[in-house]
Amino acid sequence: MNPIRHILIVGGGTAGWLTAAFLARTLGTAAGGVRVTLVESSDIGIIGVGEGTFPSIRGTLAAIGLDEARFIRECDATFKQGVSFVDWSRVGERYFHPFNAPSQRPGAPELMPYWLLGEAGERAFADAVSMQQRVADASRAPKRASDGDWLGPMNYAYHFDAGKFATLLATHAQSLGVERVIATVERVERRGDGGIASVVTRERGTLSADLFVDCSGFRALLIGETLGAPRKPLNDVLFVDRALAVQVPWPAADTAIPSYTISTAHEAGWTWDIGLHRRRGVGYVYSSRHTSDEQAERVLRGYVGSASDALTPRFLKLETGYRETQWIGNCVAVGLSAGFLEPLESSGIGLIETAAYLIGYLFPADGNLEPAARQFNEHMRARFERIVDFLKLHYCLTRRDDNAFWRDNADPSSWTPTLRDRLAQWRSRPPHRLDFIADLEMYPPSSWQYVLYGMGYPTDLSHARPAWLRAAEARQEFAMIAQVAQRALADLPDHRALVDALCARA
Ligand code: FAD
Repeated sequence: MNPIRHILIVGGGTAGWLTAAFLARTLGTAAGGVRVTLVESSDIGIIGVGEGTFPSIRGTLAAIGLDEARFIRECDATFKQGVSFVDWSRVGERYFHPFNAPSQRPGAPELMPYWLLGEAGERAFADAVSMQQRVADASRAPKRASDGDWLGPMNYAYHFDAGKFATLLATHAQSLGVERVIATVERVERRGDGGIASVVTRERGTLSADLFVDCSGFRALLIGETLGAPRKPLNDVLFVDRALAVQVPWPAADTAIPSYTISTAHEAGWTWDIGLHRRRGVGYVYSSRHTSDEQAERVLRGYVGSASDALTPRFLKLETGYRETQWIGNCVAVGLSAGFLEPLESSGIGLIETAAYLIGYLFPADGNLEPAARQFNEHMRARFERIVDFLKLHYCLTRRDDNAFWRDNADPSSWTPTLRDRLAQWRSRPPHRLDFIADLEMYPPSSWQYVLYGMGYPTDLSHARPAWLRAAEARQEFAMIAQVAQRALADLPDHRALVDALCARA
C-alpha cells in the first residue's frame, strides 16, 4: 500500500471546485499535507444550471472558510427559505416547503398530530406549524440587522449563479493551496492492477496522482468511460429527462425577489423559477415520453410571458440515475459523473457536499483504499435511494389527471417498494423520526411532513383521538405562531434590501 500524497480532481464545475476546497481545508495542503491538483478543460464548459441549494450549503461554505457576504456579492446570490409548489396537488392549489422545522417550544406538545386532528382549523400545515411561509410570502429576508451583523430566526439556503460560484470557488480553493491546471484530458492510463495511473492531457502532458476524483460531469471520463461503473437508470420512477433553461432579466432594478424557489407543475413536468440578485433563472424539466420538445418550449414561453420573446432557451438531455458503485480502486466520482436526479429539491449540490465530506473524513492516508471505498459506496447508495423516494413523493400524491404524465406518476406501479410501504403506514400514523436513519437522509423528517401534508395526504388519527390530550395547548401554540409571524413581518428587512446591503459592503 502506498500512502496517498497527491489527489488529482478532473473537472472544474461545482463538484470539482467544492471538493477541491473541502479536501484542501480538511487535509491541509501545506508541507507535510496532501497535494491537491484540479485539471479542467477550457474547451468543455460546466453545466452551469445548478442554482438552488439546501441549508446544508451554509455549513459547507463555513467549513471551507468562505465568507457569506463575499459569496452573496460575487455569486449574484439571494436567500432561499424553501420551495413554493404551485399546481402540484391540483391546478390552482399551492403549498410551501419551508426550511424551518415545525415549531417545538420546550414543554409544548408536538403540533403535527393536532394539526391532523383539525385543531389548527383550515390553516395549511406549513402555515400552521411555522411562521416561515408568511415571512417568505411577504418578501422578507430570513434575517435582520443587529449590532452591525445580520442575525435572524429563519433557516435558509441560497440561490446563486452557478458560473460565478465555480469562479469564486476556484479562486478560494487556490488560496487554500489547490493547484489549477487548464488542460483537456484526452486519454486515461491504467496501472497493472486496473487502477488509474495518470491522465494524458492535450496541453500539459501526463498528470499522475495517487487518488483520482472524477468531477467531469455527465461525461464521467474516469468512473464511466474508463472503469465502466454501470449507471442504475431511474426513468421508470422519475420520468423527466429533458430541460429547457433561460435567464430572464428583472423588469426593474427594484423588483421584489422571492426568497424561495417557485416550482410550478405543468402538463408533462415542472418549471423552476429562481430569483437571483440581477436576473431570474427559469427552466422547464419535462418527460420526453409525455410531450414533445416543441410543446415544452411553448409551455416554458407561456410561463415566462413576453420577456421570453427575446430569449433562446438552452436545451439539455438528462439521464436520471446513479452509479451504485461510485468509488472503485483509486478513483471516486463526485457530482454529475456519480449520478443525476432532477433538481426538484436541490439534491445535486447536497450530494456533492456529502461526497466531499465523506472523502475528507474517510480519507485513507495510508493507501488502504478498499474499506473507505466500501463505506463510501454504501453510504452514497443509501442516500441516493432515499432521495429518489423523497422526490417521487412530490409526484405520487398528485390528484391531477389532466395528462398521462400525472396519471403515470400516481400509478403505484411506478413507486419504489420502500415508498409504497411508508405511504401505507402513514395512512394511520404520521411519519416518525424512527422512519428515518438521520445520517443517511438528506431531507429531515420535517421535509417529508411538509410535502406529505402540503399535498393533502390523509393520515387518519381519529382512532387515537383520546390519546392526544393537549389540544388546548396546541391551539395556543398555533395562535402564538400566527402572532409571532406578524411581529417578524414588522421586524425583518425586505429580501432585496438585505441582499443590496450585503453587496454594498466592501
Ligand atoms: P459540470 O458542471 O458539467 O463540470 C464538468 C467539468 O469537467 C468542467 O469543468 C469540464 O471542463 C470538465 N471536463 C469535462 N471533460 C473534461 C476533459 N476531457 N478534460 C478536462 N476537463 C473536463 N443541483 C442543485 O443542487 N440545485 C439545482 O437547482 C440544480 N439544478 C439543475 C438543473 C439542471 C437542468 C441540471 C442538469 C442539473 C441541476 N443541478 C442542480 C445539478 C447541478 O447542476 C450539478 O450537480 C452541479 O453543477 C455539478 O456539476 P459537475 O461539477 O458535476 O459537472
